[in-house]
Amino acid sequence: MTRRVVLIGHPVAHSLSAAMQQAAFDATSVDARYELWDRAPIALHDSVEELRGDEFLGANVTIPHKERVAPLMDRLIEEAVATGAVNTITREGKRLVGHNTDVIGFRTALDHLVGQQKMPKAAVVLGAGGGARAVVHGLITGGFSRVIVFNRHLHRAEALVRHFGRSAAHMELRAMPWHESIIEAELAKTRLLVNATSVGLDADEAPIAGELITADLLVLDLLYARTRLLRDAEKAGCTVMDGELMLLHQGAAAFTLWTGIDAPLDVMASALAEARAGGVRSAEGEPAGEGDPADVASTEAATGA
Ligand code: NDP
Repeated sequence: MTRRVVLIGHPVAHSLSAAMQQAAFDATSVDARYELWDRAPIALHDSVEELRGDEFLGANVTIPHKERVAPLMDRLIEEAVATGAVNTITREGKRLVGHNTDVIGFRTALDHLVGQQKMPKAAVVLGAGGGARAVVHGLITGGFSRVIVFNRHLHRAEALVRHFGRSAAHMELRAMPWHESIIEAELAKTRLLVNATSVGLDADEAPIAGELITADLLVLDLLYARTRLLRDAEKAGCTVMDGELMLLHQGAAAFTLWTGIDAPLDVMASALAEARAGGVRSAEGEPAGEGDPADVASTEAATGA
């Protein structure tokens, strides 16, 4: 029987995960098909229930469902408990198990971004959704002593801080209102800026003005594209990284959870590069143009956005 693995999100059109995971199944002779399920929040519960069938190996979960899926699981594994967000589902018989492989993906990306430099101790995180929860958990457990979370809707950032409460008791984890002057003041005290909002996903926009970004920052954008934020940061002289490596490593960890075998990282990386070159959109961050309006127009044409 050909097994099924699905990506549940809204939207999921032309996901890069499909190219990456299908290439991995094919290269390792795992008889499985990776499918995209575009499901609005109202259909989430029924979609998750369907995964209990024997034909399913498991699933990925993406924007905007990562937090909503967690209470629908029968069991949560460590990182999913810690973050309250699930990006990968496996099956134990009819029972569904929630994991969070974004955490390992984020840690790998952060290590590469920092490189030979000393790991910073303070970070500013923009966004408070499922992706931000993996980031904040990675920072808390990675020895950071000060993490400030800004979110458009402050109450969501406050809920995130409350969620981490005890695990962040040894350090300063705070939610702050989204005002440029406050963000600027906090950036002056930090070395790491992480964008975990989806700003830049559908349009060539940045979450914050380029003038707020100073040269000594390390900037990681979870979106899988050379976003306006990253271009502004490069212009300011920062070291920057997009979400590609995080996507690859969360995907590799998910592959191993479903199949029990090592992920063929090279195959997955090539499939990602190929899909990206083809202008394929990712549910984890799509190309949103390079600043040239013609690029934006062609991206929109390619994605039907
Ligand atoms: P969620 O839907 O859970 O959260 C979206 C976040 O973006 C919220 O903080 C939301 O703020 C914010 N946001 C959306 N629109 C705006 C706006 N116009 N202005 C300011 N803030 C805005 O999504 P996820 O957390 O799952 O994903 C967030 C991003 O990270 C996505 O682009 C996703 O593709 C990417 N990602 C990439 C990964 C990778 O492997 N590279 C892994 C995980 C995520 P509010 O709460 O106020 O609505």
